[in-house]
Amino acid sequence: RTILLNNQMIQAEDAHIHIEDRGFQFGDGIYEVIKVYNGSLFTIKEHIDRFYTCAEKLQIVIPYTKDLLHKMLYDLVEENELEVGHVYMQITRGVASRTHFFPSDVAPTFVAYTQQGDRPLQNLQRGVRTIFDEDIRWLRCDIKSLNLLGAVLSKQKAHEQGCYEAILHRDGVITEGSSSNIFGIKDGVLYTHPVNNYILNGITRHVLLQCCEEIGLPVVEEAMTCERALEMDELLLTSTTSEVTPIIEVDCHPIADGLPGEWTRRLQQAFELKVKTAVMM
Ligand code: PMP
Repeated sequence: RTILLNNQMIQAEDAHIHIEDRGFQFGDGIYEVIKVYNGSLFTIKEHIDRFYTCAEKLQIVIPYTKDLLHKMLYDLVEENELEVGHVYMQITRGVASRTHFFPSDVAPTFVAYTQQGDRPLQNLQRGVRTIFDEDIRWLRCDIKSLNLLGAVLSKQKAHEQGCYEAILHRDGVITEGSSSNIFGIKDGVLYTHPVNNYILNGITRHVLLQCCEEIGLPVVEEAMTCERALEMDELLLTSTTSEVTPIIEVDCHPIADGLPGEWTRRLQQAFELKVKTAVMM
């Protein structure tokens, strides 16, 4: 497998990360996952923009222009002959002797690699089971930080219960999933948490809101309580890799009749069309 380490394309086996890389010791960095359909990077511009915005929030300077990064990622996909899967990229503050404050004169470490992986067709079709879990993460969830322990613990809890995702809440108010954004539909209106420091501003969330407009589904960016979520006609989640996935159960309570709903199906179709036109499948 060919990967990118800084701006060099090398074999994965030849890549070395220093033991004092701040990504390794502090999780001091950010990442992105970009879906590849038909050899094409879906919503790459939005992902690159978010990568730069998040880096700025940490005062990490990405040493490439956006155009160069775009080209580097396409070259990587081509080199690995990736058709369907994703690109993972991350940047850390770099290598420095261990102190918490930002070291001076440090060069960031950039890594990107491709991962083959089919689309989650079964989940898209049947929907997934979920649990509620307390959102124990920090107060800057808008930053796509490498620190994922809160998400890891919640996802593990879901996994142990045979569920796909943990729906996180702060004092009974739903923020987002451990690695997804969450939406409810009631009486022909879609509800989702507003964009602020409690959630990641998902690229797929943004695409979904465009789909809502296209199919005439009104959107209210207002958080749901867990109680209200259970009374929704439909629940769904979005992420780069999960796309638009119906949620059919939370904590063993079926949502409505326990089957993916009509609006969700229409949103999936609108999403599919966007994928197809973006990548000319
Ligand atoms: N929220 C969290 C906490 C996530 O980790 C992710 C996926 N990385 C998302 C939302 C969805 O974001 P996107 O649609 O950009 O993949």
